[in-house]
Amino acid sequence: MTLPSGPSADQWAAAVAAVRSVGADDEVLLICHVNPDGDALGSMLGFGLGLRRLGFTRVHATFPGVFTVPGPYTEMPGLDLLVPEAEAFADPRLVLVFDVASESRLGGLAGRLAAPRSVVLDHHASNAGFGGVRLVDPHAAATSVVADELLSRLGVPLDTGIAECFYIALATDTGSFRFDMTTPAVHELAARLIATGIRPGDISRRIFDSGPFGAMKLTGEVLGRAVLDESAAGGRGMVWTWATLDDLDRHGQPPYVLDTLIDPVRRVAEADVAVVVKQTGAAEWSVSMRSKGAVDVSAVAMTQGGGGHRLAAGFTGHGEARDVVDTVRRLLDLHLT
Ligand code: AMP
Ligand code: MN
Ligand code: MN
Repeated sequence: MTLPSGPSADQWAAAVAAVRSVGADDEVLLICHVNPDGDALGSMLGFGLGLRRLGFTRVHATFPGVFTVPGPYTEMPGLDLLVPEAEAFADPRLVLVFDVASESRLGGLAGRLAAPRSVVLDHHASNAGFGGVRLVDPHAAATSVVADELLSRLGVPLDTGIAECFYIALATDTGSFRFDMTTPAVHELAARLIATGIRPGDISRRIFDSGPFGAMKLTGEVLGRAVLDESAAGGRGMVWTWATLDDLDRHGQPPYVLDTLIDPVRRVAEADVAVVVKQTGAAEWSVSMRSKGAVDVSAVAMTQGGGGHRLAAGFTGHGEARDVVDTVRRLLDLHLT
């Protein structure tokens, strides 16, 4: 599958013009997706710190839904830019959106796209195409790659704060520089970020290699109930598990501790596809899918109103966990690559 090309010269110029057209004391609102991950927060806060360096004095950063910063990101630079959705500028002059594949991921903040100027920075091939200026590069390993390019076109030099945010974003979305998107350009960007003086060892320990005891016990329980279905995905196999709100409750853990649960599941060699179904409401589930290549899981997700990348995607499912998984199993066979 060939991916659409990235932003055109005109789109880059329009994004630079949009930022430059706004006064330093005008209200600027940055938004990333609901349940933010390292790329959503990192690209948004890094860019926000860059705007500060440009002299902008009124910058808010926010995301829709429950206002919780996942534990791994609570020491990220630029967190002082963050405000709850309800306190974010209601009528900003400029809106910038980060890592959001579809408007639904903006929740109640989608209306802010009606601001006089809006710029969407993203890297999802499934991006539905919304907002004023669209900087969507499906070849970018993370939205922070797009954010770095825009800051550079605005003449903002990297500093340690910006670099740490962008590094966290890049490391998160490349699986610590392991995935196919890890191109020479990704390593060149990482080199420029590290050259500012940030400490990759400290950052990785904080982001990837640290978590509460209860989260480990919860993970153990959820992994212990995983099911392997070798006949799924045209015989390439699917491994799946689920976690309920009651599981979180019993272990006293917040939902974000399940964000990386897909990683041990997708290691299973007997399955091409890994699925984790996480309860978010009475009959509502957040579905994470990964493929090793047999299936375009973003196509599966898009049939359910979700999105993502060819090998990593998600959607919101409804009903019983087993029904959601049955739907996925059926759709996998329709989207074999
Ligand atoms: P996750 O499994 O949550 O790590 O997400 C994997 C990929 O799918 C990411 O690129 C997400 O942006 C995307 N994704 C996950 N859930 C949704 C959703 N409900 N709608 C659109 N994209 C999603
Ligand atoms: Mn994301
Ligand atoms: Mn991303």
